[in-house]
Amino acid sequence: MASKHRPQRSCVVCREKKDKRMLTRLVLANEKLRIDATGKMNGRGAYLCGNPGCWTSPATGAQLARALRHELSDGDRNYLRQMTPS
Ligand SMILES: [Zn+2]
Repeated sequence: MASKHRPQRSCVVCREKKDKRMLTRLVLANEKLRIDATGKMNGRGAYLCGNPGCWTSPATGAQLARALRHELSDGDRNYLRQMTPS
């Protein structure tokens, strides 16, 4: 393989594997869902791709809850809706 190795992660909803930098990392900060813009925040993370459907799918909440081991609150769901890529 000629290309340099780049870390790959899967979107928790569509399961597509992508370059880590193409995905948005979500973490729990003080029990709240937050976007990890630096990719370096501590704690369990889950990745979503840039497809808005993966942010708003009926499966999103359950997949994130499973990946993060955290039941999403109404606030978390609102946050996701606000941060959905357009
Ligand atoms: Zn996706």
